[in-house]
Amino acid sequence: MINTAAMIAFPDRCRIVPLSRFTTWRIGGPCAVLFPCDVGELSAMMEWIARENVPWSMLGRGSNLLAPSRGWDGVAVSLQGPFKGFEIQGREIHAGGGAALPTLVGACCSTGLSGMVFAAGIPGTLGGAVFMNAGAYGGDMSGLVVGVQAVFPGGEIGCLSGEECRFAYRYSIFQDRPGAIYRVTLRLAPGNREELRREAREVLEKRRNNFPVRVPNAGSVFRRPDDGPPPGRLLEECGLKGRSVGGARFSPVHANFIENTGCADSDDVLALIRLAKEVVLDRTGILLREEVRVLGGGE
Ligand SMILES: Cc1cc2nc3c(=O)[nH]c(=O)nc-3n(C[C@H](O)[C@H](O)[C@H](O)COP(=O)(O)OP(=O)(O)OC[C@H]3O[C@@H](n4cnc5c(N)ncnc54)[C@H](O)[C@@H]3O)c2cc1C
Repeated sequence: MINTAAMIAFPDRCRIVPLSRFTTWRIGGPCAVLFPCDVGELSAMMEWIARENVPWSMLGRGSNLLAPSRGWDGVAVSLQGPFKGFEIQGREIHAGGGAALPTLVGACCSTGLSGMVFAAGIPGTLGGAVFMNAGAYGGDMSGLVVGVQAVFPGGEIGCLSGEECRFAYRYSIFQDRPGAIYRVTLRLAPGNREELRREAREVLEKRRNNFPVRVPNAGSVFRRPDDGPPPGRLLEECGLKGRSVGGARFSPVHANFIENTGCADSDDVLALIRLAKEVVLDRTGILLREEVRVLGGGE
């Protein structure tokens, strides 16, 4: 069940880890995780992945990810160390794909750069946020990204402009052309530090009041339907708020969040997602689509 070939190919850079430690749901069994220390190593790993035809996935903060409890025989790639750094030059931020969004939001506020406050409280990495075009409160990554550097399977390095990322609601081109986003350039606007700090505090306060904060979760489970009410309302109207399967429960605080109440496994979460899709489709004719990603593609 574990990809030992990765251990053999990259003995110094591969660890078998329980994915529950790498996901905000705190769910996930053992998996081989590769930790490249620079772009050259990342490129060599992506070249090996393509050559050996190994199932693979990038692993950010795991804040939008369901990892199988029985483990995964693919290879996850995690950008740590130098990939977490960033520099601010004028109105631009040049940051590694592993940089933490909360750190970047804090840096923007204390430097007086405006445009990123929407991301306060989103616990992901920059690479994951670009991949998902993460957004909230009227903003998303598409408004900030001017350039992305990524390594694709085979080892080829690509530089994409913001436009080439083809951002749309919770979508970027990387969902159809997977690659390892290792560096991103963001362009912000000048802003007032005090004002930005106040706005960030307000966003965090809104989140604390409206979303579950102390129970492990992965943010919104379902995407907003193209037309129709938000998923939280649909789920609530269909009587699913607070509904549980095993240790997984639709949050009593906000129905579009699934909480791990302590002992949930990935099958509990998948069963709850399936149940909700069936009930909502049956009662409203609306087919909900998942926003959370399933490592290895699901069941
Ligand atoms: C409490 C909470 C609140 C949240 N609020 C919001 C919100 O308001 N708005 C919102 O949009 N989301 C929200 N989320 C979801 C999540 O934080 C975002 O989707 C975030 O962008 C995911 O980043 P990540 O690093 O955790 O990615 P992961 O969950 O690790 O991965 C998500 C996907 O991105 C891919 N990926 C990750 N890193 C890279 C990389 N470097 N290169 C290429 N692909 C990569 C993965 O392969 C995977 O398919 C919330 C989550 C939580 C737990």
